[in-house]
Amino acid sequence: MIGILDGYVDEPSCLGVPPYMAPYPRYIAGMLEKLGLKWRYATADEYRRNPEIFQKAEKIIVIAGIAVPGKYLGGKPLSLRELFSIYPDKEKILVGPIILELKEEMEGYTAIPFPFEYKLYQHLGGKAENLSRNFVNEFAVLGARVVREHPDFPNVICEIETYRGCYWKRCSFCIERIHRVSMRSPKAVIDEIKALYSNGVRHFRLGNQTDFFTYMADFSREYPKPDPDFMKSFHRAIWKECPKIKTLHLDNVNPKTIAEYPEESREIIKIIVCYQTPGNVAAFGMESADEKVIERNNLLAHPNEVMFAIEMMNRYGRHAGYNGLPYFLPGINFVFGLKGETKETFQKNYDFLMDILERELLVRRVNLRQVKVFDFTPMAEIGERNVRRHKRYFKLFKEKIRKDFDRRMLERVLPKGRLLRDLRVETRSGKISFARQLATYPILVGVVGEFERNTFVDARVVDYGERSVTAVPELDINRASLHQLIYIPGIGRSTASAIIARRPFRDEGEVERTVGEEKLRILKRYLFLPKS
Ligand code: SF4
Repeated sequence: MIGILDGYVDEPSCLGVPPYMAPYPRYIAGMLEKLGLKWRYATADEYRRNPEIFQKAEKIIVIAGIAVPGKYLGGKPLSLRELFSIYPDKEKILVGPIILELKEEMEGYTAIPFPFEYKLYQHLGGKAENLSRNFVNEFAVLGARVVREHPDFPNVICEIETYRGCYWKRCSFCIERIHRVSMRSPKAVIDEIKALYSNGVRHFRLGNQTDFFTYMADFSREYPKPDPDFMKSFHRAIWKECPKIKTLHLDNVNPKTIAEYPEESREIIKIIVCYQTPGNVAAFGMESADEKVIERNNLLAHPNEVMFAIEMMNRYGRHAGYNGLPYFLPGINFVFGLKGETKETFQKNYDFLMDILERELLVRRVNLRQVKVFDFTPMAEIGERNVRRHKRYFKLFKEKIRKDFDRRMLERVLPKGRLLRDLRVETRSGKISFARQLATYPILVGVVGEFERNTFVDARVVDYGERSVTAVPELDINRASLHQLIYIPGIGRSTASAIIARRPFRDEGEVERTVGEEKLRILKRYLFLPKS
């Protein structure tokens, strides 16, 4: 038996930290199926809970690497230190972005760099003559059933790869330069979605590409030209084959594409609003609003182009859908520590964000991170010099954005009283359960109440943290706890206590006589009341 240890990946164009599942474990499981080898899959968190899990495995394939680190609620990525201590006496193979970080060979491991699929197949004894031309697609379908072994199944979002690489490849810090641009055929993508769907998956993210709008675009031009007709037929085909999908989202969109091809992009935005599910976010890799930094690092999009793209997306995507989230919003990524960065860079980035607020636009989230420098990128010339130099500015900037921008934006995106549906509880702390919707860039919601992991609740927004909201579950007034009642805006402790003391209520009139007309109106908005 061969063990597949999913240590989780996070790359610019691929996320595999729970509830997300990257394509790599699925490709590997399919490859082992093709080779007629028995396999077992486990996540890093399962391995930590039970280190004996692969005791019977003769080899272990470890997938790992966090190239764009974030904060993760759903799982803890495998660290380098942990990698050293895994089954010292077993043969181990390492794949994933972690290999880009290794300065020397790692004892006990055979490291197989990207694209690893064919090399790994050969390493495991596979013969080239037995492979079809589209062998990765074949592996993807054969390995689909691995999702059932994921501890969060069926609450897993499968990251689907549409294409690899970036046509630009020139941004100084970006690791996408390692990939040659290669499209997967729409048929292959849909076959994989079908295979996952028939295994019970209902949540998908067309997330593994650098710019979704340029999937199957015309790459013969300087900037690939998107194809709305293709996009429409692609989405229609997905729904035809898999009509009960619950989540269909995407990840990256390059704002440059929208600025260069506004007509085609407008059509594609409308298609996405129509055929994908609400709560969708297009992450815009803006990186910097400082023209000097843009030039020194060969960044692609300029601030006026990004603003244009944000405005266009707002025009069609900002209204709320059935799950309480806006249909389709942009997210913005900034990277700090790049070449040419000065104190003014921070001010320019700040001004850009304030401009978004002034224009009354919505963005789902702003991601601020310091550059992670890889030896094979042009950023290696200066390494982390600017990261170290501007460490203090970065900290202050982050605090300022959290205070001046994030909260105000959150209040706009999710106003008080908004009902959020299908919040999946992930952890609990005291009387608050932390939940998120199964979505791309889901908002963290502190649901007032004690719920078990994997419970689904609907709750209304009552308050805001810096990057999270607090919500009270939709409950019957006769069942809500004192704690939950107190959290409802306008209902203080004394009213909440009076409600508890007077319960059970048989009709609205009884509630009104207890709390008064004004508070009855508030309660009707947040709770279920018995009908008069
Ligand atoms: S546009 Fe730049 S940052 Fe974005 S994927 Fe391409 S090379 Fe990387």
